[in-house]
Amino acid sequence: MEKVLEVNQLSKSYGNILAIKNLSFTVNRGEVYGLLGPNGSGKTTTLAVILDILKANIGNYRWFDQPMDKFTRRRIGSLLETPNFYPYLSLWDNLKIVAKIKDVPEDDINDALGVTNLLKRKYSAYNTLSLGMKQRLAIASVLVGNPEVLVLDEPTNGLDPEGFAEVRNIIQSQANEGKTIILASHILDEVEKVCSHVAILKAGDLIAHGRVGELLATDDMVYIQSDNLDKLEQMLKQADFVKRVLKADKDLAVILEQGNSVAGLNKYCFEKGFILSKILLKKQSLEDQFLQLVK
Ligand code: ATP
Repeated sequence: MEKVLEVNQLSKSYGNILAIKNLSFTVNRGEVYGLLGPNGSGKTTTLAVILDILKANIGNYRWFDQPMDKFTRRRIGSLLETPNFYPYLSLWDNLKIVAKIKDVPEDDINDALGVTNLLKRKYSAYNTLSLGMKQRLAIASVLVGNPEVLVLDEPTNGLDPEGFAEVRNIIQSQANEGKTIILASHILDEVEKVCSHVAILKAGDLIAHGRVGELLATDDMVYIQSDNLDKLEQMLKQADFVKRVLKADKDLAVILEQGNSVAGLNKYCFEKGFILSKILLKKQSLEDQFLQLVK
C-alpha cells in the first residue's frame, strides 16, 4: 500500500491550549480518511498543520514520503475555509481566477464544474447561487488543477439533506477515480457514509482509528429475561458465541459474536434449562457508540 500521508507524534498548542496531542496516523492511496470529533477536538488544527499553514510544536508529517515543498503542495487540493469568490463574476470567471492563482491550465474548469453539477450555471453570477451550489463551487475550485489528494474541512457543514447528498456524491466520485481524500467532520453520519477509514479525536487526543466498518460496526444488543438471571448470566459468560453480557435493569443485555442469531441464543438457553420470558433485539446506533467513545 502506498502511503500518501504519514503523521508522526504531532502536537500543537495555542498559548496554553493544547489543541492536538501526540497525533500519529497514516493515510494510504485511495482511502477516504475521516477525522471525526466534536467541536474543538482539533480537526481543523490538524488539517492546518499538515497543509503547512500552521507549524507544529512537536512531531512531523510527510506527504508522498517526503517533506512538504511547493511541488508536493501542488498535488494537494484543500478547502479549509470558504474561498472568497467575486459575487458579480460568473462561476467560469471565478474559476479562471483560481486557475491563474494556482498556475494551472484552464482546461480543468469545465471538468470541475461538470463533476460538481454546475455546468448549467457556468455563466451565472456567483451571488445568484444557492448555499449548496456555493459549497459545490468551493469544491470545484479545489478540483481545478486536478490534484490527486483532496483535504476538506467540514465539506457538508450547514447544508440541507439534498446538499449533503450532492457533496457526498462528489466525494464518492472522486474516490472512485482513485483520489485520496482526507476530510474533517463532526457528523458521524457523514463519516459513516463517505469514509473508508476514520480517526476519532477527542480534545486533541486520537482515541481510536481504523476502518470505518470495523471501528464503527454496530453491535446488536439482545435483551433477555428469565428466572434466575444471575445463573443465566454466568452461563452466557462461558458461551463462546457471546461477546458480552451486561445487566440492564431487569434484563440481561447480550451482544453476540458475528454470525450468531437470536434464535440460536434462545435454543442454547433452552438446552441449558433456561426458558426465556423475553427476547428483544435492539440495534445499537452508531450515535450511541460514538458518544460512548468520546464520552
Ligand atoms: P470545530 O469543529 O469547532 O472547528 P475542531 O475540531 O476543528 O473544532 P480546532 O478548531 O482545531 O478544533 O480547535 C482545537 C482547540 O484549539 C480548541 O480548544 C480551540 O478553541 C483551540 N483553538 C483553535 N484555534 C485557535 C486559535 N487561533 N487561538 C487559540 N485557540 C485556538
